[in-house]
Amino acid sequence: MEFVEFAATAAAIDEEPADLEIQSLVADALRDSGTDLATLVRFLLGRVFPAHDSRTLDIGPRLCYEAIARAAGQNVSADDVETRLAETGEIGAVAASYDFGGQQGLAAFGNGGQEALTVAAVETRLRELAAVDGAGSQETKLDILFGLFNRCSDDEARYLARLVLEEMRIGVGGGSVRDAIAEAFDVPVDSVERALQLSNDYGLVAETARSEGEDGLDAIQLEIGRPVQAMLAQTGTVSGALEDWENVGVEIKYDGARVQVHYDGERVALYSRNMEEVTEPLPEIVATVEQRVDVPVILDGEVVAVDDAGDPLPFQQVLRRFRRKHDVAKAQENVSLRLHAFDCLHADGEDLLDAPLVERHDRLASVFDGENSREVSRLWLCEDAETIEDIETDALADGHEGIMLKQPDAPYTPGKRGQNWRKRKPDVETLDLVVTGAEWGEGRRASVLGTFELSVRTGEEYETIGKVATGITDEKLQEVTDLLEPHITAESGTEVAIDPAVVFEVGYEEIQSSPTYSSGYALRFPRFLSIRTDKAPADADSLARVERLVETGGD
Ligand code: AMP
Repeated sequence: MEFVEFAATAAAIDEEPADLEIQSLVADALRDSGTDLATLVRFLLGRVFPAHDSRTLDIGPRLCYEAIARAAGQNVSADDVETRLAETGEIGAVAASYDFGGQQGLAAFGNGGQEALTVAAVETRLRELAAVDGAGSQETKLDILFGLFNRCSDDEARYLARLVLEEMRIGVGGGSVRDAIAEAFDVPVDSVERALQLSNDYGLVAETARSEGEDGLDAIQLEIGRPVQAMLAQTGTVSGALEDWENVGVEIKYDGARVQVHYDGERVALYSRNMEEVTEPLPEIVATVEQRVDVPVILDGEVVAVDDAGDPLPFQQVLRRFRRKHDVAKAQENVSLRLHAFDCLHADGEDLLDAPLVERHDRLASVFDGENSREVSRLWLCEDAETIEDIETDALADGHEGIMLKQPDAPYTPGKRGQNWRKRKPDVETLDLVVTGAEWGEGRRASVLGTFELSVRTGEEYETIGKVATGITDEKLQEVTDLLEPHITAESGTEVAIDPAVVFEVGYEEIQSSPTYSSGYALRFPRFLSIRTDKAPADADSLARVERLVETGGD
């Protein structure tokens, strides 16, 4: 396929506003593409390499301007190109505005002795460009790019410039290519979708759809060394998860960076959430996998930075390590990294995407030395809110970000932000409430107060709104008890009445109308956050504010 045909297709798509029409233009182009199918698909999406491929062109804007300037003739400089860009705002239009034919020298005679650019030739040259490395690489890249622009017509230059700067923007997204592949080769969209999720390679999927149809697509498997899109989470609540699922898988939400581990039995490769290879900057994770894993695997997890005591550090520290290409050993001295694997997508020759979470987690544990291995993120199966909130309290106390709620039977769905993984929503609002009663704990906690009655202010009076028992560490319970004991006014059994004196900051998931408490409202899943030592009961939140929160869902 000649590059000029590609440019004409891109131009037609660029001018077409309707999505369905775009899809059929893409489908036509795919059908007519011959041996260039895979390349054409990638070019239409504005890329030279598949998403899973970590190679990049790494062409900065300035290099592109210089190549255009050189191809445009002696009187044009990179600064001129930049000035035109400032006027038009779009590099394709700038590239198309120059007449590159002038440099062809022999252009006046027939086709100038230059063969027409083909899609395959452009791809080959760009791949060569991506491979250029070391001293003088910028000059070599400039030569290659100049050589391409020098052979371009207006439209070819327009789309070449956009392609190399990764600004194709002709309205073709992943969804339209997916649908176009299905239309062009008469295969089900679902099969195309699944194959794309597993391979992250539109070119491969288009070729497979054309040559092997639905069966071929369905046979596409995970491949060690080819990253998969990460499964994503939505925000959710504990109450929602308990309502929706029979039991709730709970994990710590680590505050680090996502990593996908690929190990083929010999080599470990690590990929970031964006599927960029990050093996080199993370040698200690490579070493961990090499030492601890014996079978080929694909794992999903989080890398966290820890200090000397093993306590988590803010995630920015991890990101800094991810980006580090040089002096990795030095960086390791300052921040060490730890792997918390929470999923297993492939183990020992078997793809596990369709297996339920609990099964994948069992495989994960067996890949390491069992559930208690430091590298394995623990999965609790919970049936009630209290257990979940206790896990959350401990997680927060240990310096983690919070908890994840996972549907135990769900498969692994790459790239999907579905309902099966939920990150517990942080409290949007908190209330400052007065403690007006409490209950002594049981057993080990018999000497401290455990459950606290909370009240809102109504003028001079206080009306109850709920009880809080979760979110308080043992240490904190002692402190709270010491604070409250002097204000106890009456005791009956384990229950005590307390004079308004101490204010708690409390988080919650929702406020509901309720006859149980004298305020007429109840907090759903209240959680102790802190003691407001700076506030007196008279400064606590009022019933009026609670009413406003109920009406508006916020302040
Ligand atoms: P967010 O980035 O806020 O959308 O939260 C989702 C991210 O939390 C995931 O992409 C992971 O990088 C991270 N994460 C931390 N711990 C876990 C876990 N146990 N399970 C899943 N994701 C986790």
